[in-house]
Order: sequence, then structure tokens, then C-alpha cells
Amino acid sequence: MIDTSTDFRTQALRAKIPRVDAVLYTHPHADHINGIDELRSFNFFQKDPIPVYGNDWTCEELRKKFEYIFTPPKVIEGGGIPMLTLCQFDASCQFIEVMGQKIIPISLRHGSKECVGYRFGSVAYVTDCSFIPDESLERLRGVSLLILDCLRITPHNTHFNLEQALEAVEKIRAEKTFLTHLGHDFDYGTWETKLPKGVHLAYDGLTLKR
Ligand SMILES: [Zn+2]
Ligand SMILES: [Zn+2]
Repeated sequence: MIDTSTDFRTQALRAKIPRVDAVLYTHPHADHINGIDELRSFNFFQKDPIPVYGNDWTCEELRKKFEYIFTPPKVIEGGGIPMLTLCQFDASCQFIEVMGQKIIPISLRHGSKECVGYRFGSVAYVTDCSFIPDESLERLRGVSLLILDCLRITPHNTHFNLEQALEAVEKIRAEKTFLTHLGHDFDYGTWETKLPKGVHLAYDGLTLKR
């Protein structure tokens, strides 16, 4: 799972997700982490703690914002808390190993902060970014499917707007790109037909098959 958004519970029910083996956090903004408590339901079925991965910023904020999860009291009263193992990594590392799979972290600039994208083989997930450093573009070389941040049409100081997203599309040259984190500027029917070949708007519930 990448991130636990505010809608995580609804999304997990809609997609009938049977289990969560690990969570890769991109960064600790509320829209990406605030569903974290819902992981508790998966603990009920799976019994074991779920590893959650993040860079220094993410792990610091998670410890602070969810102290009851990461620094729990010795004796827990009531129904229990999510059982999560925090795995902190530096996004400049070559890869992180999750369930025997090598996943490549992609360091992104999100305003003045570092957000982390992830590459799984030929697929990359790159959201919440206003700039992709050259070393990170290098890590994205050869991806065939790219999921890319694109907040709106007009410029924004922490996200790609359409023009910047399409510039990144040109540099990365994936076979297919889906724009995500879209604001209400993007009327689907209007914009889907205006985008360059191979570039599409993502939508809630989109499923991609190999
Ligand atoms: Zn953000
Ligand atoms: Zn966001």
C-alpha cells in the first residue's frame, strides 16, 4: 500500500483489499497519512505488526502526530492500537527491500520538503512534487508506466501544474502516464481528450492490468 489517505477505509472496502503487507509512505501531509488508524483492522486478521516505511521527515512526523501508536503506554486500556513497525530509510539508498522485492525510492522536492516516490520494476509512483532532481530522473529512466503528480492548471508552489507535469512526461518518456492528485480544474471529459498521446487522467477506482 502506498500511503493511508483520509479515505483509506472507504477505499479499502471498495477495492475489497484482503490484507496489507506493508505501507510505503510518500510524506507526512494529512491527506497521505490520516487513515493510518484503519490499519488496526488488518492487524485483527493478520495478527503480526505491519511494517510502515518512510524517510526521516515522515517518520519524525508520524512519531509526533501518532504518539499513541509509536510511543504507546506500557498498559493499553480499551480496544488496542494499530501494531505498526516504523522502518526509516534515506531516499538516497539504492533500494529498500520489502517482502523480498527491491523497491527503488525516488527523492522528490515538494516545496522545501522531501517527498518520496517509488519505483517497482517498470512502474513508478511519483506524487506530491514540485521538482524532480536529476539523480531521481535517472532512477526513473526506462519506466513503462508512470503515475505522476498534477494538481491543477495554474502554478502551485508545492505541486506540478499541468505544464510542469507534461515537461516531466517529456523527460521521463514512459509508455503510459496517468496524472493523479488532480484538483477540480480537471473536468475529465474535457481534459482527457486534450492530453498528449500516452498521457491520461487517473480517476478513483482506476485498475491497471499488465
Ligand atoms: Zn503533500
Ligand atoms: Zn497530497
